[in-house]
Amino acid sequence: MLEGVEFTEGTEREDFVGFKVRPKIIVYPKDENDVVKVVNYARETKTPIVVWGAGTSLSGHLMCEGCILLDVSKYMNKILEINDIDWYARVQPGVNLEFLNKKLMEKGFFFPPDPASFFLCTVGGATANSSGGMRGVKYGTFRDWILALKVVLPNGKIVKVGEPLRKNRGGYDLVHLFVGSEGTLGIITEIWLRITPLPKRKVYTILAYMNSLEDTAETIVELRRKRILPEISEYMDVDVIKALNKHLNANLKESEGGAFIISIEDDYLTEIKEILKGREFIITEEEEAERIYSIRAQAAIALRAESKYMFVEDIVVPVSKLIEAIRKLKEIERKYRIRMPVIAHIGDGNLHPNIMLDDISLAEKIFEEVARIAIELGGSISGEHGIGFQKAKLLAEQIVSHNGEEVLRIMKGIKDLIDPYGIMNPNKYVELAYNTWEKK
Ligand SMILES: Cc1cc2nc3c(=O)[nH]c(=O)nc-3n(C[C@H](O)[C@H](O)[C@H](O)COP(=O)(O)OP(=O)(O)OC[C@H]3O[C@@H](n4cnc5c(N)ncnc54)[C@H](O)[C@@H]3O)c2cc1C
Repeated sequence: MLEGVEFTEGTEREDFVGFKVRPKIIVYPKDENDVVKVVNYARETKTPIVVWGAGTSLSGHLMCEGCILLDVSKYMNKILEINDIDWYARVQPGVNLEFLNKKLMEKGFFFPPDPASFFLCTVGGATANSSGGMRGVKYGTFRDWILALKVVLPNGKIVKVGEPLRKNRGGYDLVHLFVGSEGTLGIITEIWLRITPLPKRKVYTILAYMNSLEDTAETIVELRRKRILPEISEYMDVDVIKALNKHLNANLKESEGGAFIISIEDDYLTEIKEILKGREFIITEEEEAERIYSIRAQAAIALRAESKYMFVEDIVVPVSKLIEAIRKLKEIERKYRIRMPVIAHIGDGNLHPNIMLDDISLAEKIFEEVARIAIELGGSISGEHGIGFQKAKLLAEQIVSHNGEEVLRIMKGIKDLIDPYGIMNPNKYVELAYNTWEKK
């Protein structure tokens, strides 16, 4: 049944975090017809399919035993079209995000969502995850930039959902059902992304050494009160800075209060200088600004080298509750006497405390306590990394407490409707959330 499709025996892989992926076979489709053959084979042999982009997801999205691992990065990695009138790019799922942006920039465009894994991840993986990133504060996440998709469904049919239009009221919004579905509803084989012209205004990047994380959160609140919208507003605490200096020669000052990186249009420069008064800061542009951006992007990689196990949280709270969330995080750090370095897209309330452990016996407990801070404060357990295997139980808690059980049932109903065979990345995300909740 897999006639003409390239595949090998399954060998074990690990994702970025170290979750194990143990496939029965690994398939390298050349086009969507190969994907259809694989799906039909999976359905008939009742074998789960897990799609592999670049393996950089952070919540056990790809874990499997005896699955078919469908690796789209080897062949399905082309940019098919850059339309400079209708302002979209049409790509295959395995294209690397940084490569796409380089090609767009040559034509005066860019695609704003920029997960810090942009130099590693695929557009398909980031679409299936609805990734965000450093520009999220201004431009949102992948969800805000996907116009249309081609998807191979679990029944083997190929569908196109959405249109490459800025406005489209054609029926229920199926595009955004697949964006962020983590490979549980179908295999994305083509993506139409909205693109936008490169900004003309001058943008400065300021690196400020703050008094503390709380101090940075207070600064964010002040920016919001003053109606200042940055391009980027990121935070890294001193542990993160030390890891960057040690592993990547970042040459940053190891200031106890951590560093705040903010990029703003030149109009705001005077106001920002006033807001940051009393702290040490440098104003950069062009190459130095790029260097700082690139250092920030590699923060998780530097931290990963620092401990045996690292669990990356991705909580979001309303900006008005940031300071409360930070105090609660510090309490957890003290209670368990652990290191929990914080990287944050602080401008949009998205905190990444990284739970660093040598012994994982307490990992689940700590992970859940951190996530519950977000649930209690009206936030979310995931802003951009997604749910995978690791956060499914917490997803159920969040949906039931914020939205109600009926919403969880509707979500499970959607999974059952589109994948009644249970072959698409099973026992994760919504399905696992629902099953965990139902058993209680
Ligand atoms: C150093 C580092 C920094 C990061 N920083 C950020 C950040 O700032 N913001 C952020 O949002 N995320 C960040 N991430 C995580 C980010 O979410 C992932 O990098 C990205 O979303 C996944 O890309 P990938 O190509 O590796 O996909 P994978 O990890 O391979 O797959 C992700 C999920 O999508 C599914 N999938 C993949 N391709 C398809 C397809 N074609 N069709 C259907 N399903 C598919 C997979 O089965 C899986 O469930 C970071 C990760 C790392 C390692």
